[in-house]
Amino acid sequence: MASEFEIIRKYFTRPAPSAVLGVGDDCALLQPRLGMLLAVTTDMLLEGRHFLAGDDPAKLGHKALAVNLSDLAAMGADPRWATLAIALPEADEKWIAAFAEGFFRIAGRFEIELIGGDTTRGPLAICITAIGEVPTNLALRRDAALAGDDVWLSGATGEAGLAVAHRQGRVKLEGAGRETCLARLHVPEPRVELGGRLRGLARSAIDVSDGLLADLGHILEASGVGAELAWEDIPRAPAIAACADRALAQECVLAGGDDYELIFTAPPFRRAEIQATGKELDIVLTRIGVTVPGKPEAVLRDAAGKAISLARGGFDHFA
Ligand code: ADP
Ligand code: MG
Repeated sequence: MASEFEIIRKYFTRPAPSAVLGVGDDCALLQPRLGMLLAVTTDMLLEGRHFLAGDDPAKLGHKALAVNLSDLAAMGADPRWATLAIALPEADEKWIAAFAEGFFRIAGRFEIELIGGDTTRGPLAICITAIGEVPTNLALRRDAALAGDDVWLSGATGEAGLAVAHRQGRVKLEGAGRETCLARLHVPEPRVELGGRLRGLARSAIDVSDGLLADLGHILEASGVGAELAWEDIPRAPAIAACADRALAQECVLAGGDDYELIFTAPPFRRAEIQATGKELDIVLTRIGVTVPGKPEAVLRDAAGKAISLARGGFDHFA
């Protein structure tokens, strides 16, 4: 069976040309570029909580890094370096090779280099720290929205939540719709290019990991503004539009989580530039509402202008 050091050498040691020193010493050595701030984020994935025993290790390698890249994107930061702390129940080389393959495939696409980590025996857990760079003063913070901003959403939310509901037996997905939803859950695509392009365009941003309303709520809290949203304006992904259980579909769109889309706010005079950016990147960008002075709460209205309160999901404080 492979030793800890053989595992590190064989599976987790790759050239890291943008670091002064990568894997192999007590610390990695990094030199941020002039005029850049470091953006640092950590996300942990635990078996039983964030994924299930038996989940595809290559997809796990992808997702563990993707969720961190999504945080960098939400700050407007360009990915640079990552560390990987991993607890493995056993030295199952087939599993580790597949995990590393999924990890390095997405790392290569987004030009982020693995520069260190920790490897230990234990219940399966994966903790990644990602480091990016963002020009001083251009980070997309949660606390920078102003009343009167447009509220924008990239892509559409809900399909990952629908996949979770499917796995829980709350809904039965079939065919292409099922594959799409499961892919949204297991191989999320972080909006890295979009986040970078929003520097200087958006005022504030967050990525949707816990649900559209919950994560928008973090911007509102931090910025001290409210928001008015129209349910009719919130985009419906195909599987959401096709879902016969309308209450579940709405719950997934608004509170599903695991979407890894970006919510951002921007002044109205930026609309044309933002739309052009979306076209160029081939990402649908939708104005779903506006920020307003007042309590840091989102009010969601139906087509008749009536405030909607969600039947499930504990969001009745939006009523
Ligand atoms: P130390 O005991 O000094 O903390 P380790 O023996 O834990 O160092 O690790 C040796 C080297 O391998 C270090 O550079 C560490 O960052 C790196 N490393 C350990 N585990 C991983 C991993 N899963 N992925 C990438 N690098 C790793
Ligand atoms: Mg040491």
